[in-house]
Amino acid sequence: MISYKVDDRNIGVLTIDHPGKPLNVLSFAYIQELDDLFDRLAAPDNRPVGLVIISGKPDNFIVGADIKDFLGFKTAADGAEASGHGQRIFGLIAALPFPTVAAINGTCLGAGLELALNCTSRLVTDHPKTALGLPEVKLGLLPGASGCTLLPRLVGLQAALDMMLTGKNVYPYKAHKIGLADEIVSAPALLEVAKERVLQLAAGQAVTVKRKKPLIARLLDGPLKPVVYRVARKQVLKQTGGHYPAPLEILKVVRRSLGRKLPVALEQEAEGFGRLTATPEHKALTHVFFAGSGRQKLPAEPVAVSHLGVLGAGLMGAGIATVALDKGLTVRHKDIDYQALGRARGHIQKYFHGRVKRRILTRREAGLILTHYSPTTDYSGFGRVEMVIEAAFEDLELKRRLIAELEAVVLPETVIATNTSSLPIAQVAAGAKRPERIIGMHFFSPVEKMPLVEVITSKATNAQTLATTVKLGRRLGKTMIVVQDSPGFYVNRILTPYLNETFHLLEDGIPVDQLDRHARRMGMPIGPCALLDEVGLDVAGKVAGVMVGLIGKRLEMTDHNRRFLDDERLGRKNGRGFYLYDKGKRRGVDKSIYGLLSNPQRRDISFQETMQRLIGALLNEAAYALDEGLIESPAEGDIGAIYGFGYPPFRGGPFWAMDQVGLPAIVEQLQQLAKKHGPRFTPAPGLVKMADANQQYI
Ligand code: NAD
Repeated sequence: MISYKVDDRNIGVLTIDHPGKPLNVLSFAYIQELDDLFDRLAAPDNRPVGLVIISGKPDNFIVGADIKDFLGFKTAADGAEASGHGQRIFGLIAALPFPTVAAINGTCLGAGLELALNCTSRLVTDHPKTALGLPEVKLGLLPGASGCTLLPRLVGLQAALDMMLTGKNVYPYKAHKIGLADEIVSAPALLEVAKERVLQLAAGQAVTVKRKKPLIARLLDGPLKPVVYRVARKQVLKQTGGHYPAPLEILKVVRRSLGRKLPVALEQEAEGFGRLTATPEHKALTHVFFAGSGRQKLPAEPVAVSHLGVLGAGLMGAGIATVALDKGLTVRHKDIDYQALGRARGHIQKYFHGRVKRRILTRREAGLILTHYSPTTDYSGFGRVEMVIEAAFEDLELKRRLIAELEAVVLPETVIATNTSSLPIAQVAAGAKRPERIIGMHFFSPVEKMPLVEVITSKATNAQTLATTVKLGRRLGKTMIVVQDSPGFYVNRILTPYLNETFHLLEDGIPVDQLDRHARRMGMPIGPCALLDEVGLDVAGKVAGVMVGLIGKRLEMTDHNRRFLDDERLGRKNGRGFYLYDKGKRRGVDKSIYGLLSNPQRRDISFQETMQRLIGALLNEAAYALDEGLIESPAEGDIGAIYGFGYPPFRGGPFWAMDQVGLPAIVEQLQQLAKKHGPRFTPAPGLVKMADANQQYI
C-alpha cells in the first residue's frame, strides 16, 4: 500500500497506492504500516529534508478509513481505543522533525483528510475530482483520528462545523479560501510543487499562507463562539429532528475541547467517537452504507455507453439529460415540443451555471459540457446512441409507438430503457422487435438529487441489457435495485399501504396535522398528508389504481382518493389539498377536507397507535414484496425505502428495523392490529415463517 523513496535532493516521497484497487482506503493494517515507517523516519540517520505524501491513484488521495474495521467494535471503549490509535499514528506525522506536505489530487475524505491535517502544509490540485471532506457524520460518527480536534484549529469554528456537521465536501477554491489548502496547483505539476514547498519550509521560509481572517470570522471564533454553538445546535435539531446523535456529539466534543491542550482535546474526541460507535444509529447507518454500496457482479459484458438518447424533455427527461451530461455523456434529446426542449435546455444551463458559481467547474469546462448536448424534434442522431432512455408521457400506447419508432432508427444492440413509473415493462415491450433490449429504469424526481433507480426487467430482457443499464446507472451516480416487473415496482408498492392507511386513520378521526407530526417524529422527512399534496392526489390516485388489481383487496382501500379528486383537490400544484397554499407556500390544514370523510369528527390518536398502523402496513408490504421475489434481498429492500422515499436512514430500512424489534414481536403486533382494524394487517406468510423459526432478515 505504501512505498517510500528519497530523491537526489534528499526529499522523501511517501506514495499511497492500494494494489489492485481503484481507491485508497486506510485499513487498520495499513495504518500500522505507516506507524512503522514514521518511526523509522524519525530516527536521526534516516531523516530526509522533508516529506511529500502523495497518492499513486489518478483521481483519489485517500477516500477514508476501512469501515469494515469498525464492525469489530463491541463496546464504546473499543471505539475509543481505535480512535486513540489512529490519533497517535497520525500524530507521528505532526511530530516529525522535518516539514511534511500532503499533495492532494482527487478525493480526500475522512481519515485521508485527517492524515493531511497532521501535515505542515496541504496542496490541492484543480482536478475536477479533487474534493476534501469529513463525512463521518453520515455514518453516525465523528472524525475520530484527530479531525474533530484539528480542523477547527486550522479553518476556524464556523467553517469546521459546516464541514463536520453536514459531512459535505469542499472543493479546491473553497478549501483554499478557508485555509484548509495552502495552494491550488495543476495536477501534472503537483509532485514538483510539493517538493519545492518542502524545500522552502525546510529553509524556514514562511510559505504556509497566514491570511488575516476577516473581522467577522475572528469574532465568530472569539467572543461570539457561544452564539455559533447555539445556532449550530438549533440548526442540527431542526434538520435531524434530534434523531441523530452524531452531530450533537460533534458539537459537544468541539465545545469542550477547542482551546484546550492537544492531548486533552484528543482524549475528548476519542471518547466521543467511542460513544458514537456504540449507538444503534451508527449501526443502522453502517448497514445502509454497505447495503447501498454492494456492488453486484454484472450478469454479462455491458455495452459501453458514451452517447445517450433521451426521449421526452419534460421534468424527468430534463433531469436525466442533466445528470448524463454531468457524468461526461453526449446527449441527443428528442421531444415533439420545441418549447419543452427550450425549457430543458434552460434547466440544464441553470444547473451547470450553478456548478460554475460554486466553483466546482470552470466556465470553460461547463461550456465544453454543453457542447455535448443537442436537442432535436426528429430521430436524427439516434443511429449513433448506445442507449435511449424514454421519458415521454405515461401512456402505454404512446410508449409502444415510441419503441417501434426507435427500433427503426437505432442500432440493433442499442438498449431502450423506459422511465415508466407504473406500466409493466412486459406490456411496454409487447410488440417490440427486440424485446430483449427493453428494460425499465425508474428514476425519481428530482433526478439530480434522488439517489435511487429501480431497474426492472421483463421475462424477455437479456443479461447484457441488464448489465448495460446497471453500468450506466452507476456511472450516473445512482444506487440501483433490480426489481421484478410488477405493478408499482417496489417503492410504490410499499408506499401504497402506508398512504392507504393514512386515509383509514383520517377516517378514524386523527387530525391531518397530528398525523403528519407523528410521522415526522418517527423520522419521516415529510408527513403522509403533506406527501400526498406534493406528489399530487391525481398521481397518487393513478398509482393506487394500478395497485388495486394486485393488492387492492388486501388493503381494504377506501374511495377517498376519488372523493378528493371529485372535489378538485390535486395537492400543491392547484393549491388545494390537505393543506391550504398561499403563493406556493404551505399554510395550515384545510379543515374543509374533513367534510369529505364519512366521519367528520376529530379525535386524538396516539403517536404509538399511528406509527404501529402506518409503519406496520409498510413493513408488512415489504415482507410480502420479498416473499414474492420482487426484490432480490432484504438489504435492497432497505435501500429502496430509504433512497426512494426517505424512510429514516437511522432506522436502517424496513427489514433492518423489523430485525431490531424482533420478528416474533412484529408478527404479534400485526396480528393485534388485524384483530382490531381488519385483515389488511394479516402478517405476510414469509414473515410469520421466519418469526416462527426465530430468524432475522439481515
Ligand atoms: P412531463 O409531462 O413533464 O414530460 C413528458 C414530455 O414528453 C413532454 O415534454 C412531452 O412533450 C414529451 N412527449 C410527448 N410525446 C412525445 C413523443 N412522441 N416524442 C418525444 N417526446 C414526447 O412528464 P414527466 O413527469 O417528465 O414524466 C415522464 C415519464 O417519467 C412518465 O412515464 C412518468 O410516469 C415517468 N416518471 C415521472 C416521475 C415524476 O415524478 N414526474 C417520476 C418517475 C417516473
